[in-house]
Amino acid sequence: MRLADALRGQAIPPAVAVVRDADASTTACPICKGAQWVRHNVPVGDPMFGRATACDCLQAERARWNIRSLEHLSALDAFRNRTFENFDPKVRGAEEAYQIARDYARDPYGWLVLHGGVGCGKTHLAAAIANHAVKQLIPVLFAVVPDLLDHLRATYAPTSTVQYDEMFEGVRSTQLLVLDDLGTESSTPWAQEKLYQLVNYRYNYRMPTVFTTNRRIDSLDDRIRSRLGDQALCKLLEITAKDFRELKAGQRRPGTPGAAVDTPARTPSRSRTD
Ligand SMILES: [Zn+2]
Repeated sequence: MRLADALRGQAIPPAVAVVRDADASTTACPICKGAQWVRHNVPVGDPMFGRATACDCLQAERARWNIRSLEHLSALDAFRNRTFENFDPKVRGAEEAYQIARDYARDPYGWLVLHGGVGCGKTHLAAAIANHAVKQLIPVLFAVVPDLLDHLRATYAPTSTVQYDEMFEGVRSTQLLVLDDLGTESSTPWAQEKLYQLVNYRYNYRMPTVFTTNRRIDSLDDRIRSRLGDQALCKLLEITAKDFRELKAGQRRPGTPGAAVDTPARTPSRSRTD
């Protein structure tokens, strides 16, 4: 659901009474006059009576903050040049994955797991889905799983300006989530539990999510594996294309899966394998 729709979906009666501690010098929001909180003109006994709620302007500010914080988490900058246009769909073992990923990008629905060995092009396709979503103005977070968990853990530091709950909420509720390199995260109980909570939330709410992994599915955390096995929600794609780096330079055509890895826009925080 788009944020604006989500905000509209809240059945809050029109705000009329303004909380009195508004700073008159604030660039005035016409609704709250800068107070950012509003009371509602409802009869005694109404659940909203006497309650202050966040004004539209405060909700918009929170949404902007949320988008900024997700941009910070996103690894997509390093993969901006991975698109469907520069993926060679004729590479043996990747044709079906290309078609399905492309269809998915047009209408992100359910879960997609791109499974295959190092260098098979799965991250390229996952990034292509995310880049397509960006063009469609769909809120998307592309995250490398171990990095994402590191970012979440860092919010516990006393110097962190972001609270864990806020960041976790932003990640789990983003409209489209791409989790790259599932299975390479730390096996600590903390990491396993947080990843499970994230995946389980997306599962319970049937939220569009793309995973890439080069691990055997049966080697993943049992709770995550069982959710990936729900065929009503999740499509598992096996990519059998060979590692592009094993192809001799002369055989490699421009646009071979992963060929753009040599010239990323920015060096990813972790050395990437495909
Ligand atoms: Zn306001």
